[in-house]
Amino acid sequence: MFLRQREPLSFDRSVSGKRGMDLPKLDVPEAKDTRPAHLRRSGFDALPELSEVEVIRHFTRLSKWNYGVDDGIYPLGSCTMKHNPRLNEKVAGLPGFTDSHPMAPDALVQGNLEMIYTLQEWLKEITGLPGVTLQPSAGAAGELTGVMLIRAYHVSKGAKRRVILIPDSGHGTNPATAAMAGYEVVELPSLPDGTIAFDDVTDPVNGKVRKGLRTLVSELGTEIAGAMITNPNTVGVFEYRFKEVSDLLHSVGALVYMDGANMNALVGVARPGDFGVDVMHLNLHKTMSTPHGGGGPGAGPVCCGENLMPFLPVPVVVRDTVKVGEGEVPRHSYRWDWKRPQSIGKVHTFYGNFGILVRALTYCLSHGSDGLKEATLRAIVNANYIRARLKGAYALHIDSPSLHEVVFSDTLQAKHDVHTLDIAKRLIDHGYHPPTIYFPLIVPGALMIEPTESEDKGELDAFCDTMLAIAKEAETDAEALHQAPTLAPLRRMDETTAARKPVLRWAKG
Ligand SMILES: *Cc1c(COP(=O)(O)O)cnc(C)c1O
Repeated sequence: MFLRQREPLSFDRSVSGKRGMDLPKLDVPEAKDTRPAHLRRSGFDALPELSEVEVIRHFTRLSKWNYGVDDGIYPLGSCTMKHNPRLNEKVAGLPGFTDSHPMAPDALVQGNLEMIYTLQEWLKEITGLPGVTLQPSAGAAGELTGVMLIRAYHVSKGAKRRVILIPDSGHGTNPATAAMAGYEVVELPSLPDGTIAFDDVTDPVNGKVRKGLRTLVSELGTEIAGAMITNPNTVGVFEYRFKEVSDLLHSVGALVYMDGANMNALVGVARPGDFGVDVMHLNLHKTMSTPHGGGGPGAGPVCCGENLMPFLPVPVVVRDTVKVGEGEVPRHSYRWDWKRPQSIGKVHTFYGNFGILVRALTYCLSHGSDGLKEATLRAIVNANYIRARLKGAYALHIDSPSLHEVVFSDTLQAKHDVHTLDIAKRLIDHGYHPPTIYFPLIVPGALMIEPTESEDKGELDAFCDTMLAIAKEAETDAEALHQAPTLAPLRRMDETTAARKPVLRWAKG
């Protein structure tokens, strides 16, 4: 069915003495290696010795094993894998952006500073928050920056406080971030509808009582530094009582962090600054269409209210003004502002992942504000279309309205001994990248699907038809699902060992 060669490691193909090209003989004395012995690499045999055509074929074959957004729908929930318009790449590649030195004086890089400033203005408008830094290089880096702002704020008022509240529907990076910033994490339970519980919740299985938001706020009071709330949360549900949550937290002087990685469901429709958020991050590599996967690079700008602005990382780009009569009028002139005595410092070299920022601004400008809003609405319609087509064939553990993603459970298939992993692996046989699986943890056997606005009805239907065929197959031929994938170059891997004991270095075998 597929024309695919077996592809060994290039090291295993190596033939001593083989070359891709011939270099002329050295006509200068060979330099002595003056590096201190302890800094020299040891236990390293050699680079693979291959011909040029072998190198080209090796990497081309490997690239064909891959699946990307340019192949088809990439339904990973929580990841917002949308199309990356080629215009973004073209603009980011302009020599004025790629060739300027990060330490060039302000006067020589006015265009770059204006780019940064303009993106800041867009993000302020989108979030409804007046402060912004573009430095953090990913979502999790934005979270840490945001929580450090909260910490700096409390320290400036006398004490850093002890606790951060995080709903069990939050993203896994949230508790990791809070712990890294020196906070104790206290979990907030969710209701069956997927939103934060205000009142105590009794677990139907073990009868244990979990304290709701009201109890925790009254018991912990001023020990609470803040809450980190993913919104829409990881079950794709909008926290419709967000303003009440914020008001309650603010009543004890705590601040509200919103994980805005799911802003693809809100841009142009709802502004976090309007429902009580003090600080948040956006994932430009999700919402603003810049490429991601494989570890980056990304950009996780942080936006904040006036209360946190003094603590923002340095430097901040500001626009100069000129006095006209009684007032100040903005000039077409920009500069770095380093004079911020209360700043938490720098969180990235220079000004973050600049190329990603250029792509994000290109995305905003090419869509316009009406286009950004339309993208949001279409992303929501697409997720709900999938939900409507698959409902019944797959169980919906949480039945609240979906925003940009929908989470199914494998409980209907489990009756036939078919589980989420089998469904995901079968999708590979049909040529699809599987959705996010077994996350969020509060949904048993979760299949979390986020189509984004990039997909048209034809692509969505083809994906849904495949999912429905797999649901049928679960009833009639469970064994076929247990065997999947049968067409992939590798079948089921030992993912636990791969993650826990990765082999990162080739050794002569
Ligand atoms: C992706 C994501 C993050 C982490 O973002 P990175 O850029 O991968 O660090 C955090 N929270 C949510 C809800 C996300 O979807």
